[in-house]
Amino acid sequence: MRTRPEAPELVVLGRFVDGEVAPHANAWERAEEIPGDVRARVGELGLWAPFLPVESGGAGMDMVTLGRVHEEVGRGCSSLRSLLTVHTMVTATVHRWGDDEQRERWLPALATGETLGAFCLTDPDFSGSDATAAGTVAVADHGSWTLTGRKKWITGGQRAGLLLVFADTATGMSAFLVPADHPGVRVTPVRHMLGTTASMLATIEFDDVRLGPGALVGPPGWAAGTVMTGALDLGRYSVACGSVGIVRAALAASAAYTSQRSAGGGLLRDLPQIRAKISDMVTARDAGRLLCEKAGRLKDAGDPATIMATWVAKYFASTAAARTASDAVQIHGANGCGPDYPVARLYRDAKVMEIIEGSTQIQELTIADDAYREVAG
Ligand SMILES: Cc1cc2nc3c(=O)[nH]c(=O)nc-3n(C[C@H](O)[C@H](O)[C@H](O)COP(=O)(O)OP(=O)(O)OC[C@H]3O[C@@H](n4cnc5c(N)ncnc54)[C@H](O)[C@@H]3O)c2cc1C
Repeated sequence: MRTRPEAPELVVLGRFVDGEVAPHANAWERAEEIPGDVRARVGELGLWAPFLPVESGGAGMDMVTLGRVHEEVGRGCSSLRSLLTVHTMVTATVHRWGDDEQRERWLPALATGETLGAFCLTDPDFSGSDATAAGTVAVADHGSWTLTGRKKWITGGQRAGLLLVFADTATGMSAFLVPADHPGVRVTPVRHMLGTTASMLATIEFDDVRLGPGALVGPPGWAAGTVMTGALDLGRYSVACGSVGIVRAALAASAAYTSQRSAGGGLLRDLPQIRAKISDMVTARDAGRLLCEKAGRLKDAGDPATIMATWVAKYFASTAAARTASDAVQIHGANGCGPDYPVARLYRDAKVMEIIEGSTQIQELTIADDAYREVAG
């Protein structure tokens, strides 16, 4: 889409993705890791938390541009984009809801990516779709806390330095900032995921972890409608934008492949069924991006309508990514199933987009509920 001039940072980022990300994403998937030097390059480019104000170590980037950054990274590697997503959720939480001491302690290292953040909500013994169901508990003791429980599928958990942990307390769900090297925290890698395989997932156990009063974000029992909603909205936005990136990558790979692959005396690109799939991909890319931009503009305006706009953008973009990546594999035939092209990875990654940050089914419930509220009042 060339509807407006690209921000200069997006041009630089595009080169980074083309030269240093996309060509290696299949290898990172096989190694199940984003290498440390790549994470450092992301820091050099100022991409870990560019939305922070300049005085907090960011670039004051608006949400529409941040969405484009996550789209661009998602075009190259969904695992790297996933790390950006959860890091953004944690960093934005510290910035928005943290007190002065928490901001001073954590923001400088989060801004550069020297410390990576992980978002610890999902409890393996409860439905992750019900975000308020938590088996992890925090018990108050004269202003301090003892945290016990287990979180699973934690993106970046293998490398994170700061864990944002949601736990049930006597007054409801609370959020805690827990250093990953704190006594009683145990990190176990989760390997062999279907998709976003390089995003270094972990199970994280908390065994009587003693926390001071400075670990609590906001008042006790207050996190569900504030920290959790805000962070999940941002994560959902990032996944929506990253899904548009997957669509773009599937389109680019399919257009290139069909332009050189012969079929029936001509090229694949000459066949009407192929052209129909390419047209669908272009439409998915442009429509997905427009929905993401709408959600981003509402965020920039501080309009609460962004929450529903983000649900809609994520619903559309993640399902479009899954369909588009599947079509891209189909177009590539056996090559689409092998390791030499990006499309098998895109297909695996796209499936994950339909599950995380609100599954497709949860989105269908939420979006329809809102529609009925609007119509029926
Ligand atoms: C690659 C990856 C990375 C992840 N990273 C993180 C992370 O960093 N931090 C974190 O906290 N979690 C993370 N998760 C967990 C993720 O948030 C959950 O997987 C997600 O919320 C879905 O929860 P679940 O897996 O327990 O599925 P469930 O909630 O058990 O759902 C199973 C199925 O039932 C459907 N379903 C559930 N409830 C309903 C309903 N009410 N109506 C209709 N259908 C329903 C769902 O759509 C789904 O198809 C990650 C997961 C993956 C796969």
